[in-house]
Amino acid sequence: MLYIGCHLSYSKGYEAMGKQAVEIGANTFAFFTRNPRGGSAKAIDSADVSRLESILAENRFGKLVAHAAYTMNPCAADHNIISFARRSMADDLVRMESVPHNYYNFHPGYHMKQGVETGIKLISEQLNGVLKPEQTTTVLLETMAGKGSEMGRSFEELRDIIERVELKDKLGVCFDTCHVWDGGYNIADNLDGVLEDFDRIIGLERLKAVHLNDSLNPLGAHKDRHAKIGEGYIGADALIRVINHPALKHLPFILETPNDMQGYKNEIAFLRRNYSE
Ligand code: FE
Ligand code: FE
Ligand code: ZN
Repeated sequence: MLYIGCHLSYSKGYEAMGKQAVEIGANTFAFFTRNPRGGSAKAIDSADVSRLESILAENRFGKLVAHAAYTMNPCAADHNIISFARRSMADDLVRMESVPHNYYNFHPGYHMKQGVETGIKLISEQLNGVLKPEQTTTVLLETMAGKGSEMGRSFEELRDIIERVELKDKLGVCFDTCHVWDGGYNIADNLDGVLEDFDRIIGLERLKAVHLNDSLNPLGAHKDRHAKIGEGYIGADALIRVINHPALKHLPFILETPNDMQGYKNEIAFLRRNYSE
């Protein structure tokens, strides 16, 4: 079964996202746990959550991949920004338990000239501060394009963060195809080799979700500009190989391509046509 979806708006609540997902042929989706510009999150309506749960069960959805606000920077140079990131993530993880056993993905952040070592230390400290043994949510570190001081640009950096976290069983990785390509990993010509590297450095058992995007920039550009499937440098054929790869094909795939809902519906249908069970 291909689990595929896109980002949906949480503004009308959980049930609305479930319905919209079904309408566009999706059987997973991503959503921001709070307004990306910061601010407080909405109160959880448990009736709304249970209506979503029945939509998910009836339509045999895969795991959902919630996304932390982009504005969180756990490895900032400013103390207030670090503590805001910590409070937001701790609060998000409490909220995630209203839809248990799903994924919560975040960007490791920008070290802001403090250096990679300090970045690794601060990110792992944040995780050690917020992860709880009883949580059912798996927290995913996203592979990043490495623009400026962005952390998570290499598998080694993600490994070094994970190594310093106590509750490692609560951690996984979300593999963003645009970001790894921009980071210099040639998934178009050597997907097997890239996944072998991932396995050797991090371990494929940590790979829990994929952000499926084409890239507007050539290999190693460190830019992070997403393109529609088949309209970028990675190309449709390579992305079809991604969804069909034995190490990946059962994971949830989230499209973050520049599309409206009709565009997502078309991309989902296209990928389903090119997926073999
Ligand atoms: Fe992301
Ligand atoms: Fe992404
Ligand atoms: Zn991106």
